[in-house]
Amino acid sequence: MVGNGEAKVFKRMTMSDEIAASAADLDANDDLRGFADRFEFPASADGSRSLYFTGNSLGLMPKKVREYVGQELDDWSRLAVEGHLHAKNPWLPYHEFLTEPMARVVGALPTETIVMNGLTVNLHLMMVSFYRPTAERYKIVIEKGAFPSDQYAVESQIEFHGFDAKDSLIELTPRVSEPTLRTEDILDTIYREGGSVALIMLGGVNYYTGQAFDIPAITAAGHAKGCVVGFDCAHAAGNLELKLHDWDVDFAVWCAYKYLNGGPGGVAGAFVHERHSRAFDLPRFAGWWGNNKQTRFLMGPDFDCLAGAEGWQLSNPPILQMAALRASLEIFDEATMPALRAKSLKLTAYLESRLKDIGGIQIITPTDPAQRGCQLSIRVGGKGLHDRLSARGVFVDWREPDVIRVAPVPLYNSFEDVHRFAIILKECLT
Ligand SMILES: *Cc1c(COP(=O)(O)O)cnc(C)c1O
Repeated sequence: MVGNGEAKVFKRMTMSDEIAASAADLDANDDLRGFADRFEFPASADGSRSLYFTGNSLGLMPKKVREYVGQELDDWSRLAVEGHLHAKNPWLPYHEFLTEPMARVVGALPTETIVMNGLTVNLHLMMVSFYRPTAERYKIVIEKGAFPSDQYAVESQIEFHGFDAKDSLIELTPRVSEPTLRTEDILDTIYREGGSVALIMLGGVNYYTGQAFDIPAITAAGHAKGCVVGFDCAHAAGNLELKLHDWDVDFAVWCAYKYLNGGPGGVAGAFVHERHSRAFDLPRFAGWWGNNKQTRFLMGPDFDCLAGAEGWQLSNPPILQMAALRASLEIFDEATMPALRAKSLKLTAYLESRLKDIGGIQIITPTDPAQRGCQLSIRVGGKGLHDRLSARGVFVDWREPDVIRVAPVPLYNSFEDVHRFAIILKECLT
């Protein structure tokens, strides 16, 4: 029961006080709120902490990265070549330190998961093995407006096999005047055209619209038609609760510098389903790090391929990048994906409701929470708004021709951040 005095105080609160209080309440009830302190935030012009909503583009730096990278620098300086075996974290098996935590992030078995290379490199390596076109079955299904690198990679693979990209690419296109795809339309296309499709390769979450695709339904439909099904999870890893193994996806790739905070240009991930783990007859581009660990240093002439996703490795891995990613994956293990996703659903719903209150803002990301991660993409008149927001210390990103992407990341963004963003956005609009 509210006492008289309290009721009076309550009445004196303005509307915006109430909204601020509710953001503070939501933060107070957020078990993950302490994780923000593990990250370094850029400062805005006045020295205060900026409002950072571009973790979908480059995740913030975990404070521990300095220590983890520093350890490898120290060992390099102290031990040089001996560090391969005698560093505190020996470099020879260093990638193995990342395998299990990364597998947990994407819902995979450790043997299905490998951290290596860059994302587009991994996409090519996977397509070398899993895009095997024949005269009857040679097409690739992608979403129209896929990330350009994926588009280039897919088209160049088609041409590499001597097919014509123009009639070999099926681009899933939203209905007229709808910004995103309907799952039923994706599945219809697969049922209709599946017989000529060698590979279905979609983003787990489309980078532009923020739409999350129904990975299990698409995978099942593709398999029913005899297609191989892979996903680019660049915008899904660390954002959605993925279950790549249970969903029976053939392969997936993702980068680790977006939601996974692995640092600029950081080392990427790949998933190969267990059922392909001993498919040594698949074509693949080989390198010595994919060779049997027991015989790798015998330096023999014959490639003896490792089972599982490790068998796709080429080079000895970049330790400094891996050290950075290791610091971040430890945080993911503490926070856990189910808890992060649970907060993310609330945080993005809160952003959505504040945008609706401002009014006149078109959100092109689906309203169904199951069809999106943390990002909302809003359609705006011109780049001016983005520039005004930047000048106020707000990090959001601009995507041609008319979209601003806002990604409140559950690991380090608060409801208060979203609240302050809504106030600044409203001021920038008027
Ligand atoms: C970020 C992103 C890329 C970038 O590719 P890199 O090889 O890491 O430079 C490619 N595809 C998608 C879908 C992305 O979101």
